[in-house]
Amino acid sequence: MARLDWIQKELKNLKEAGLYNNIRTLGSPQGAWLEVDGRKVLNFCSNNYLGLANDPRMVAAAQDALKRYGVGPGAVRSIAGTMDIHTELEKRVAAFKQAEAAITFQSGFCANLGTIQALVGKRDVIFSDELNHASIIDGCRLSGATIVRYEHCNPASLEQVIKENEGTYEKAMIITDGVFSMDGDIAPLDKLYEIAQAHDIILMVDDAHGEGVLGKSGRGIVDHFNLHGKVDIEIGTFSKAFGVVGGVVSGNAVIIEWLKQRGRPFLFSSAVTPPDVAACIAAIDILESSTELVDRLWENGRYFKAGLKDMGFDIGFSETPITPVMLGEAPLAQQFSRELFENGIFGTSIGYPTVPKGKARIRVMISAAHSRDDLDDGLDAFEKVGKKLGVI
Ligand code: PMP
Repeated sequence: MARLDWIQKELKNLKEAGLYNNIRTLGSPQGAWLEVDGRKVLNFCSNNYLGLANDPRMVAAAQDALKRYGVGPGAVRSIAGTMDIHTELEKRVAAFKQAEAAITFQSGFCANLGTIQALVGKRDVIFSDELNHASIIDGCRLSGATIVRYEHCNPASLEQVIKENEGTYEKAMIITDGVFSMDGDIAPLDKLYEIAQAHDIILMVDDAHGEGVLGKSGRGIVDHFNLHGKVDIEIGTFSKAFGVVGGVVSGNAVIIEWLKQRGRPFLFSSAVTPPDVAACIAAIDILESSTELVDRLWENGRYFKAGLKDMGFDIGFSETPITPVMLGEAPLAQQFSRELFENGIFGTSIGYPTVPKGKARIRVMISAAHSRDDLDDGLDAFEKVGKKLGVI
């Protein structure tokens, strides 16, 4: 089929460049250990930061909701009505985050798309961190607003681009990731807030990787910087530390009300299922009841990062449990990943376009579910493979 030849060519190019995604098959629930392609291996890939994806309390909550509400929400909430459990989750998220209100979406990706598109358009401008997540980039593009990138985590650069664009737009937004997913560094949200205030610009933070990780009991980046009630929009996802699936926007009540009227994924796509919602509520219960899991996550992250650093690995500038092991070219990162797997470790390589060209890496995701023995096994494997491939 000649009309599809170009795809075959592109796929071949990806394979030759070491950029083809080889997706492994899991035969077990998410956890510190996994069955991958039929083999039991130690898991360093998932965003299941707190080990909640298979926590019995979460599973029990989902089962109860399944019995009470069934498997699906019926239709979009604005047409078929909303189940009380969705509204309850929104109230719980708002209270957890000390925000005025919250609205849930089907995913973090949808939350970003829907929010940005609802707030800015053709005559507006978005000031966006140059390393923002793909879902922010796509939301910005969909909105039709002018996109102005500022240097990564650099408030002076943000100030400069705002000045350069003065008088050229009607409305403006500043958008940043909270914790940058590939590097693990934290946006200077306090400084960005000051700039947003000074110029009366809407401030939005995507806290996908700060949720359940930063702040008291994992309340996220707004809590970490003590900016409750000040950041207009905080995007969250339930697919990472919460161990479930779904997205949420919390913040200013007027914005949340507007998203119920104009957030396209909210208006045109059905909500996540009742068992998902019940599991998310259970996750908030767990986080509110103890800081144990969050504390263990940080302890594990510190231990693993120190171990890799001592061996001489370049782990970038992560400030969180996300641990990038920088390898440079994509084929080397892919080979490293294959060798890790041979040594019983599941650590996927990440290359362009997820990270810039020449900055391929293994991104190690540490979890509270890892035991000290797991972490030591992981460090041993990294040392063995690192030496074999001449990385350390
Ligand atoms: N924002 C960021 C920063 C992310 O890392 C991700 C997930 N990779 C998302 C949004 C999307 O979240 P979800 O998986 O809930 O769609």
